[in-house]
Amino acid sequence: MSERDVRTFCRVCEPACGLVATVREGELVKLAPDRAHPVTRGFACNKGLAGVEIHKDPDRLNFPVRRGEAGRGERVTWDAAVEQIGAQLRAIRESHGPNAAAMYIGNPTAFNTLAGPAMGAFGAQLGSKRTFSSGTQDCANKFAGSEAVFGSSTMHPIPDLQHTDFLLVFGANPRVSHGSFISIADPMKSLKDARKRGAKLYFVNPRETESAEPGETILIRPDTDLYLMAALLHELDRTDSLDREALATRGSHVAELLAFAARYPAERAARVTGVPADTVRRLARELAAARGASVHMSTGVNMGRQGTLAYWLLHMLSFATGNLDRRGGNILSVGFYPAARAAGRREFAQSFADTEYGRLRKGTLPGNLLADAILAKENPVRALVVVAGNPLLSIGGESRMREALGKLDLLVCIDLYKNATGEYAHWLLPSTDMFERADVNITGLGLQHEPWLQWSDAVVAPRGERREEWWIFARLSQALGFKSPLDSGPAPDVWGRIAHMLKSRGHSLDAVRASGEPLVFEPLTPGKFFAEQLQTADGKVDCCPPEFADALARAERIFAELEREGLGKLKLITRRDAYMHNSWYANVPAMKRGDRDRNRLYIHPDDARERELAEGAKARVANAHGAVELEVTHDGGLMRGVVALTHGWGNRGSTGMSFAARTPGVNANALLPSGLDSFEPLSSQAFMTGIPVEVEALA
Ligand code: SF4
Repeated sequence: MSERDVRTFCRVCEPACGLVATVREGELVKLAPDRAHPVTRGFACNKGLAGVEIHKDPDRLNFPVRRGEAGRGERVTWDAAVEQIGAQLRAIRESHGPNAAAMYIGNPTAFNTLAGPAMGAFGAQLGSKRTFSSGTQDCANKFAGSEAVFGSSTMHPIPDLQHTDFLLVFGANPRVSHGSFISIADPMKSLKDARKRGAKLYFVNPRETESAEPGETILIRPDTDLYLMAALLHELDRTDSLDREALATRGSHVAELLAFAARYPAERAARVTGVPADTVRRLARELAAARGASVHMSTGVNMGRQGTLAYWLLHMLSFATGNLDRRGGNILSVGFYPAARAAGRREFAQSFADTEYGRLRKGTLPGNLLADAILAKENPVRALVVVAGNPLLSIGGESRMREALGKLDLLVCIDLYKNATGEYAHWLLPSTDMFERADVNITGLGLQHEPWLQWSDAVVAPRGERREEWWIFARLSQALGFKSPLDSGPAPDVWGRIAHMLKSRGHSLDAVRASGEPLVFEPLTPGKFFAEQLQTADGKVDCCPPEFADALARAERIFAELEREGLGKLKLITRRDAYMHNSWYANVPAMKRGDRDRNRLYIHPDDARERELAEGAKARVANAHGAVELEVTHDGGLMRGVVALTHGWGNRGSTGMSFAARTPGVNANALLPSGLDSFEPLSSQAFMTGIPVEVEALA
């Protein structure tokens, strides 16, 4: 019997933990943490290790499928599939123009080095202005915020966890999510180590999360973090704890920043955040006293109504206190390529365009407009190519999305599975999983705590006729008569971009490939940010970009609205858990054992009692956008007035995912808004947290 171990790395989330794959008789049979990995050091979580279950899942797509008579799937060859899809796309474009075709790009493509450029090239060839992406569901605000303040959307200084004395984290749960916009394996170990060193750690969340143990939780009303950040800045200003020299010499629009913060003194902010003024003062005192203080925020804040402003103030908490680019503060990771410097400056003011939906940030359109674009009376989207995405379970407004998907003349889904969205597809094209393709861990570039780069060959050959996304798009380009990498032959060099990036740092991709060893780069080092990396035209941090004017006025309107509403209104937040990653693990029995076979509504015991909801009782959760019915679980760690639900569920009727269909749970996004006014104007980021709901017991 032939058996071998192959070093590879995980491509589920940002740490890209090193894995050792056991291959027996050509089949992937086991995954284990790579204990010899110089950076991830033997850490891997249950989600990454369950990748083997996804690889082996008998429900996976193995060959192209066309929806035939009576909706039945018919197996077709790749040649027939690309030829017929190409003909259909061509006909739609010719009859209705390029914008009649659209693409939706899902989150896993961010962990697939070759997929992104291939989709970008194909989208440009299609000539459509309608590309949607899951980025507007969880992080678009961060790109907008950094561009506005630093002149580059790729600059995200991360906490120097190894040296910090004080860490303030908003809206994150690293124990279950393992970090976003900070790539660090085993983040909990780093947090505990920091605690052991004496660092003070604070987690600002509407619930006491699984990550809170090494620190203290500051409970906050959902979608109000902006006002706590403003109150902190104001308190630091009021107590003369800001780094005036840094502000004077390295900042612009400082007075405007301080004027905004001054609108929200601690007592006033407390009226909507629920965070007592004394707590704000204590946090400000400790932050100011730390030798190195760091800050971070994640999806719990991104997904609110003012994610870009919140990220702006997060940067300001770091910069205005002299902690940006300081040991123990926030430092920009460079890694194997200085992406921000290489890409150069991008003027935030130039990043908006007038569209049929009003003035929007350039790039991908808000996912929350996808259904509108399909259902539009004039110039609707008629053809949609979905890549590694599941908009039906990812975007707000489930019923409207179902209606829209059913209207398409052509829906092509490129995926591992026929997922919930794929139920509506005319074509299903099977893609490879992470063990069936070569890759490098590009996602962490600029975000890694200890920067490293690893090459992984495909661990096993693709099963059936699964193909890599770059190849699928190259074939579609040919079918449409566009230029294609495959024009030069069946095995083009698709790694030129990465080789070039590495060469600029004096390394060779061939050597990295041949060595099989991760290449480790310079650790987080302060001292270069202002001189070498900052991209603004005047070389200063923009402390209050003029383009924020409308958003600042809107912040005050939202504050007034929250004040009127009071602290009693029930608000829905997303609860991440250790067994689901967006909708990835819906069809993996090992992740849904016992009572994990459904998602539940978490509710504070006192809120439950008021509604006569005993543990396990059935409830109806409803608002203007939709309703779901599910069991409740009491969670004393929640703030009063907050309910929580895990997203990624809702596979009732997903015939292509048999186990998921038997354990469907409910689609949290049925309760979320969609369409115009359901996303942040500065970034197109969807509103997905702090959503008002009513909860009542079902008889
Ligand atoms: S933390 Fe993320 S990258 Fe690491 S094993 Fe888990 S899922 Fe994979």
